[in-house]
Formats: sequence, C-alpha cells, structure tokens
Amino acid sequence: MVDRRMNTKKSEELYRLACGVMPGGVNSPVRAFKSVGGTPRIIERGEGAYLYDVDGNRYIDFCCSWGPLILGHADPDVRAAVKEQVDRGMTFGVSTEVEYQLAEFIVSHVEPVQKIRFVSSGTEAIMSAIRVARGFTGRDLILKFEGCYHGHADHLLVKAGSGPATFGQPSSAGVPAAFSAHTAVLPLDDERALKEFFGRHGDRLAAAVIEGVPANNGLLIQRPEYMQLLRGLTEKHGSLLILDEVITGFRLGPGGAAAHYGVAPDLLIYGKVIGGGLPVGAFGGRADVMGVLSPDGPVYQAGTLSGNPVAMVAGLTTLRKLVSENPYGVLEGRTNTLAHDVNRRLSTAGGQIMQLGSIFWLLFQSQAPRAAHQIDSGGIARYNHLHRMILDAGVYLPPSGYEVCFVSAAHTDDMLKSAVEIIADCVGRATPKT
Ligand code: PMP
Repeated sequence: MVDRRMNTKKSEELYRLACGVMPGGVNSPVRAFKSVGGTPRIIERGEGAYLYDVDGNRYIDFCCSWGPLILGHADPDVRAAVKEQVDRGMTFGVSTEVEYQLAEFIVSHVEPVQKIRFVSSGTEAIMSAIRVARGFTGRDLILKFEGCYHGHADHLLVKAGSGPATFGQPSSAGVPAAFSAHTAVLPLDDERALKEFFGRHGDRLAAAVIEGVPANNGLLIQRPEYMQLLRGLTEKHGSLLILDEVITGFRLGPGGAAAHYGVAPDLLIYGKVIGGGLPVGAFGGRADVMGVLSPDGPVYQAGTLSGNPVAMVAGLTTLRKLVSENPYGVLEGRTNTLAHDVNRRLSTAGGQIMQLGSIFWLLFQSQAPRAAHQIDSGGIARYNHLHRMILDAGVYLPPSGYEVCFVSAAHTDDMLKSAVEIIADCVGRATPKT
C-alpha cells in the first residue's frame, strides 16, 4: 500500500472558518481531533457503512455517529419514515401516537422497563433518572464508577481519586465542588471496595449507576459476577441500580446489557440506537419508581421537544427492523472475524482488538483491562499516532484511543476485510522493526 495523504483542502478551510465562530470549531469536544492531531474531516454525507467528506474522500466508518447507526447511514426505511413524518409536521408539543408506539415497543421487549419517558439526549436521561432515584428513595448519595461516562450533568462529571472510595472532585471547571459532594466513585471490578462501600454508606445511597458495558474509556468488559454483586448489594440496602444502556441498549440485542449479564436493574437509560440517528434519550424501569415522576408524582422533569415525532419515528422504524430482521448474530460474527483477523496480524506488534457483540476496541497492550487504571497510556498514545495514517488510508476510527468502534448491518464482509488490511498495514509500517 502506498503512503499517502488525502486531499483535505476543503475540510481544512471549513474547519478554520468554524473555529472563528464555534469554540474549538466543534459542537462536541472529541470531534476536534485534539488527541490524534490533524484536521477533522468535514462530512458531506453518509451511505451505508461509508462516510464521504467535503473533499470527496470516502471512509469505511467505524464511528457510526458514536453508536446510533446500527443499520448504517441513511437506512432507506428510516429515511422514508422520517420523510413521511416531516410532511405531517415536525413538532406539536402535544402527544402523538408514535410516542406511545415506541414506548410500548420498548416496554414489551425489555422486561425491566415497565414505564418509560423520552427526552432528547443521554445526558438528559441520566440526569432525570438520578432525580427520580433521589425522589423515590428520599436519599441524596449516588455511586458511579471510575471511567464510566454518563453525560455531562454537573454531579456526574466526577473523577475518581486514589483510594477505594473518593467523594466528589469535579473533573470539569465550572462545577462547584458542592454539586458533586453527593457523588461517590469506585474503581470497576473491585469487589472488596464495593462491599466496603456498601457496608459504610449503603443505607444512604439513592442509586448506583453503571454503564451496561463501560465503553467510554476503552472497553472495560465486566465480569457477570461483579454486576450481580452490585445488583445484590443495591437491593439489600434499598438503593436503586441504574443501568446506563445508552451505548448497549438494542446494540447488544433487544435486552441490552441487562440481558447479557442477567441482571434486572430498577432503572435503565437509553440513547443512541433507540433514536435511529436523531436526538433521543429515554429512562424507564419499575412502574413504582417511575410513578414519582411529574405529573403523577412530585419529581419534576419536562422537555419542549421530548418525544419529538420525527425522532420517535426514526427510533421506532429502527427498533422494529432490528427485531424483525434480527441482525445481531451476523453483526457479532462479522465483528468477531474482524477482531480475529486483526489480532492474528497484530500479534507481533502488540496490538489487539477486544470485542463484545458489534462493539470493538483497538488497543495496544497485552492485558485486557477491566478497570480504568489498567489502561496503558503508552498504548493510547500509539493509537492516537496511528489514527491519521489509518484515516488517510480510508478507515474512519474514532479520534481518540479511549473510544470504541461500532460495526453496523451495512458493513459487508469485503469492507471488513479491507479494513483489516488497512489497519494491519498501517500498524506494520508504524511499528519499529526489532
Ligand atoms: N451514557 C453513555 C454510556 C454514553 O456513552 C453517553 C454518550 N456517549 C451518554 C451517556 C451521554 O449521551 P449524550 O451524548 O446523548 O448526552
């Protein structure tokens, strides 16, 4: 393969202009390519598994809009349903049938969800669910885990310090320490720390919140026993378990991570796939817990565009298609082949792919980490260095070594084969010969 730089003149010019009017030139930080260097590609369109930028370059896309696009870009059925709804009106601020249909669809396919409310992002969903948990239990304290991302609500932007349990040091400027004083943080995969924490604080804990499969700081696949221990301890202490399925919901299968681990959370958080590519989030779970929500109960929560009909129709079409076509086995098989082929080619270069279902993570360390502190920053630096080379060869990986990749139903065996070639070739060329 020849070493080449793509022509990115138009992207560079547009990005320069964007920087003049938008902080960092972007509307979400990691899009700015700060970790990997180079200019972010400005995208003109997506089709199936391909992204096309404004300079006409084509990429096999493994970012898939950070997870929502399980059917690939511009799926014809989703597109048609959205167009039809747009012709009937885009928002009414009054209830529509499709909201009920999507709610009913999720409730009938996900056992722990008895009632659900739609919002417009994952951040909004988790923020609201925590308010519900606090309102239901009458307790303030929440527990999260180091390396798990749950959106950018103030009290969840909390970094773990050293020691088994650290109370609230905000990890962003602009968050008063008092706002995160009720957030405790534990390392993942540490049963002793978990038991100790519950022994000391369990009876004042409103909820423990954990990602279905932690996938925002590498892919930290948890042991089912650990998840089941967390379920058992929350139950014993009258605390709620909130499973953040923003990435895993309808991605690992209709039952998401809850089914994968065999745990029944009290509340589940959704985003990404359930919106079919439009801005949707949701939280749902036990009917008695959701019963505290306004207008039935005293916990206030609202949204001008919540349950937006265009977004609902995109989500409903996506979920119906996923359930009727059931692509999960094929997606998992293809991702497994990709992982296997990359691992075979990268074994001497110290790289590997970790995989769960159609989620995978390219990492450069030999041990598969299960906790954030086990991630080797040198390996992340290697990924970040390689990113540009792989991008210029036509494979779009997320622009940070901590981010995971997604395979969609539009990725064919041939596309995956060429992605393996490109990744292996780039790693080979960037690895010094010993
Ligand atoms: N929870 C998880 C597990 C996520 O991955 C994300 C987004 N990456 C969020 C919450 C926040 O969702 P949003 O970006 O839609 O606010």
